[in-house]
Amino acid sequence: ALELKEIRKSFDAGRKNVLNGLSLTVAENEFVSIVGPSGSGKTTLFQLIGGLEQPTGGEIWIDGKQVTGSRGHISYMPQQASLMPWRSVSANIELALGIAGMERKEAGRQAREWLDRIGLAEYADSYPHVLSGGMQQRVSFLRALLSPQTLMLLDEPFGALDALTRQQMQQWLMSIWEQNKRSVLLVTHSIEEALLLSDRILVLSSAPAVILEEIIVPFARPRSPQLWREPLFNELK
Ligand code: ATP
Repeated sequence: ALELKEIRKSFDAGRKNVLNGLSLTVAENEFVSIVGPSGSGKTTLFQLIGGLEQPTGGEIWIDGKQVTGSRGHISYMPQQASLMPWRSVSANIELALGIAGMERKEAGRQAREWLDRIGLAEYADSYPHVLSGGMQQRVSFLRALLSPQTLMLLDEPFGALDALTRQQMQQWLMSIWEQNKRSVLLVTHSIEEALLLSDRILVLSSAPAVILEEIIVPFARPRSPQLWREPLFNELK
């Protein structure tokens, strides 16, 4: 679903080379993680894919269309939850469903159903500030996953969380993603997280970034939250 062909990006009139001919693909419904040292160009890469920055060279294709430099083709989950504070929790979700073309009444019904599935039914009519940080993040994931774009970019979504909340969020992500699959590109500093979540891991070098290694995650992981924890940790031992 995503194809990057020989992407180059330099700053400061060509003096600073950050990406130097990077190519990668993410297949339909594939979950790919990118790990790499700080400053290797991961955020820059996301900005290019999202059309917030123009590449110096190369092409970006999503679902068979060239989208180099244009916006609106991805759903994006930033490091901090970013719900609209003036809309209720349910209305935040309904908006994503509305953009996906769903009729209003149906969107209202489905938003509640989804909130119930992620354990937040009682907050449907509350405003986001009433929710804890972790709850807001769960709603943000849900919104990103329900929006119509077939590619989702996750930029260190768990970076700021404590270990326990991080684990819970990873499980929420996987269970929501299981029910509503799409292609995901996740940037993380944690190889452990990449192993837990993804089908494939790309290891970047420091800038100018090239892919040093590609790891196909070698075990099939049962992904629903009830199933995947124990067997996975047994395998990793
Ligand atoms: P981290 O893991 O620390 O978030 P990263 O891999 O996301 O790092 P980027 O933020 O993409 O790295 O930055 C890669 C390099 O590009 C850095 O050296 C940075 O200084 C440089 N860079 C990014 N944006 C600009 C810009 N607008 N002008 C000049 N240099 C930039």
